[in-house]
Amino acid sequence: MSDVTANKEEEGEEEEEEDSDSIGSEIQKLIDSPNAGKTNKLKSKLKELENVTLNIAVTGMTGAGKSSFVNALRGLANDDGRAAPTGTTETTMKPNMYPHPFMPNVKIWDLPGIGSPKFRAKKYLKDVKFNTYDFFLIVTSERFKENDIELATAIQKSKKLFYFIRTKIDNDVRAESHKRNFDERMLLSNIREDCKSNLLKVGISKIFLVSSFQLEKFDFEKLIKTLEDELPENKRFALIQSLPVYSLENLEKKKAYFKKMIWLNAFASGLVAMPPLPGLSVACDFGIMKNFLRQVFTSYGLSNQALEVLSERVNKSVEDLKSAKTSRFKDGVTDDILIDMLSTPVIAMAKTLGTIMALLPLGALPAGGVAITTVHHLLNKGLNEMTEDTKKVLEASQLT
Ligand code: GDP
Repeated sequence: MSDVTANKEEEGEEEEEEDSDSIGSEIQKLIDSPNAGKTNKLKSKLKELENVTLNIAVTGMTGAGKSSFVNALRGLANDDGRAAPTGTTETTMKPNMYPHPFMPNVKIWDLPGIGSPKFRAKKYLKDVKFNTYDFFLIVTSERFKENDIELATAIQKSKKLFYFIRTKIDNDVRAESHKRNFDERMLLSNIREDCKSNLLKVGISKIFLVSSFQLEKFDFEKLIKTLEDELPENKRFALIQSLPVYSLENLEKKKAYFKKMIWLNAFASGLVAMPPLPGLSVACDFGIMKNFLRQVFTSYGLSNQALEVLSERVNKSVEDLKSAKTSRFKDGVTDDILIDMLSTPVIAMAKTLGTIMALLPLGALPAGGVAITTVHHLLNKGLNEMTEDTKKVLEASQLT
């Protein structure tokens, strides 16, 4: 262990943050399980998290801003070729499914409008196959109407989660902002109270005020916090991973989720009984590491495609956004970068190794210990570097 510490000092590595607290209870259980088959269990947990499905239903009156909200959740501008069409009169009574651009298991559904006077919530829910969805977002750009309330009552009876969203708040703010004594907080509070008074019948007081064009403002973050509290663990992770990066706060949240995942990845990748690749200092599953870092790159919106969308949204040149990235991952996660990371001498740190030894049941060390510690360290390093790049992109987009 002293070698390990010495190496760290030689390299002048920055102090790695310790995050043993953030290990999820489910992951801890897997780590504690008997050694036989542990790697497979860890790998299948990773697969499970990758494949978890999340079906989000967006409903409300035609024109309320449903399609625009669907696009915002997918990180797409309304004029993107892959976007849900907006500003059109709906003719179909069928839900339209839009897969998330990089997480196809996350599906966002644009449900038919509920404006008709003949609207019957029970029939509507049956027609749209309500059991498909994890939760419903009921969208309006005005006060909530009879049909919204009838729908919410029916969803409540079917024991599904639903949330009221008041959209186009940027319009309300703009319309009032020229007035003397304009007070944005007061305006938002008035809109919220006005909506609430209408929803007393369903006993709901949670309403989220949003703008699909400015997720970083108003109540969008609050909505995500509420969903984090109310969704099962796996679904919560899929949601956070799939959200576009729109603020520093939401970037930090993504990072915290990925840090938890690092434990799982490090154990799954370091516990394998495989000989080291020639020239590499540790025996670990290279594919798992690459996959993890690629997930971070995509989820952070660092790809050229994502930056093109962002550039449209924030009105900055795509070249400026691209050149904000300075880390070795600026053009993506390549085999060469990974080999380079793994070729440096073992940089595992005593403190992390100690944490890992405490976590592992007796007998699991020393074989996998150093590999796990190294992978843990390298993935953290990669995550930190990409987080810094993303911060710079946010800065260049003036979203900080
Ligand atoms: P849908 O019929 O419910 O799907 O509504 P759309 O998403 O097609 O939106 C109707 C119109 O409202 C379009 O012109 C959108 O650009 C506009 N719109 C939707 N959401 C917002 C928003 O948050 N802010 C502003 N300013 N306009 C919005």
